[in-house]
Parts: sequence; C-alpha cells; structure tokens
Amino acid sequence: MNRIDFLKSLAMLPLATINMKLQDFQTMIEPSIGAAKAGKMPALFVGHGSPMNALEDNDFTRSLKILGAEFKKDGKIPSAILVVSAHWLTRGSFVNVSEKQKTIHDFGGFPQALFDMEYPAPGSPATAKEAALLSHLLHETNEWGLDHGAWTILHHLFPEADVPVFQVSIDYYQPMQYHLDLAKELRSLREKGVLIIGSGNIVHNLRMSIPKLQIGDNKPYDWAIEFDTWVAGKIASGDYAALANYEEIGTAGKLAVPTTDHYIPMLYTLGLADGKEEIKQVYESVEYGGMSMRTFQVG
Ligand code: ZN
Repeated sequence: MNRIDFLKSLAMLPLATINMKLQDFQTMIEPSIGAAKAGKMPALFVGHGSPMNALEDNDFTRSLKILGAEFKKDGKIPSAILVVSAHWLTRGSFVNVSEKQKTIHDFGGFPQALFDMEYPAPGSPATAKEAALLSHLLHETNEWGLDHGAWTILHHLFPEADVPVFQVSIDYYQPMQYHLDLAKELRSLREKGVLIIGSGNIVHNLRMSIPKLQIGDNKPYDWAIEFDTWVAGKIASGDYAALANYEEIGTAGKLAVPTTDHYIPMLYTLGLADGKEEIKQVYESVEYGGMSMRTFQVG
C-alpha cells in the first residue's frame, strides 16, 4: 500500500482504529525502535586465529576492542549478533533458537584459564526464528551454543556480553555458491539491527603453521601472502564469484585452503554486502607462516 492509499483508508475507520493504524504506519517506516536508533548494521568477517587470542592482549585483539568501542560510540548497538563460525559444521544448515547459550570449549591442550572462560550472553530466539523464516534452508535447533569461533572474538568486541548472540551452522556438504546465496537471504536482518559476523580465517593451514609456531618462526609462507593478497583484491573489486571458485588459482589456493571450514565464513559476510557498500579492512597480518588474520567490515 502506498502512502496516499494508506491515508485514504484511514478516513474509513473509527478514531481508536486510526490511532492503531498510525502506529502501524510508523512501524512501516521504522521497522523497530532499536533498529531506527542503530540504523543498518555493518557485517563483519573476523580472522579468529588461535583460541589463545581470548586471553591475549595483542595487535589483533586490540583491533577488535577498538572496533567494539567504535560501535558503541556511534550508537550502533546491535539488537542481536548472528555468528557463522568455522567450528560448527553440519549436514544441512541450522540456526540455534535457544534462549540460553552455553560457552563451548571446543579445543584441547590449552591452559586451564581458557577453559574457565565463559561468555554469558543470552540467545535471541525471536531473531533466530526470523532468520529461519527468511531462508527455507535454515532448520531450527536447540543444539550447540557458542563455540570458540564466536566467543573468543566477542569477548573483545562486546566484553560485557550484554547483546544476545546465536549461531548459524555451515552445511559442509554444499558448494561455495550455496553459502553466498544463503547469506543473501539474511541481508534484511541487518536493517533490523542484527550484526552478522563470519568467523574463520582466509588462509588456514595448521599442518604447515604448527612447526613454525613451535620454533618461533613467524615469517609468512609466500603462498599465504599470495592467496591473502589475491582474496583482498577480489573483495575490493567485488568479484565474489572468483572467491567461490578459488581453487582455479592453483597451488596457492590449495595450500591456503586445505579444507574449506575456515574459508566459508568469509562468503557469508560477502553475501551480506549489497554491492555498493564500502568494505573496510580492519586488520591484516599472516601469523605462524600460514594463518591470515585479515578482518574486514562491510558497510
Ligand atoms: Zn578456528
């Protein structure tokens, strides 16, 4: 209904109903008060790296702290946060609709202090169910909680854990284009104040990084720099189809993305961009030889 038709229809109604309808009209132009205040939310891709980042104070974690503080300063307080993490892989795509979200310590061999950490943010069942309505690909579940791809970065971005959080899983049996398309279906959540974060790593070769980590050699592999730079260029030119077909670039792609789990979250973040939006690089470095920490913001 356009504005004139809407106003004409009001003339036919009793006064009490008109008041109610005017509220509806207000709602039509302002989806919700929270969203109106915060405006359209950016989307983020965060290269989360080692779980130890949750405990550490380094250039990467400081960049997340600064970003979170900027959100606050600009009044961009999300109504909810949706995280697509490299660490929740499923057959089929799922959205967690639980009210309570447990902190999952999905790693081994780290200090007790990391296992003792909790991120006590609540879930957002209403927003999670809205996501399931937007995409028929998403199935509701009460399984899972917040894995380390989510809570180790949120601990720095939103340290007070006062914004509701929920995760969407990665269907690990789908082609790359599926993830770009699913993200596109969730775009309108951004208008409603939902901050969507893809959390993975563009270059993630643990097998080749761990030996370097053990001897304290932090010099990046040539193929890691090559692939990370190639991805940054494709993001800048908006060529997301090339990123979905990254295997075509050959050896560097194979070494940088030995498995696709940490690469796919980036496709969700890019699928949320509307094409004209600015993409800002928040942080970039290649650690332990073969792990890109590149982090960027859409919008
Ligand atoms: Zn990871």
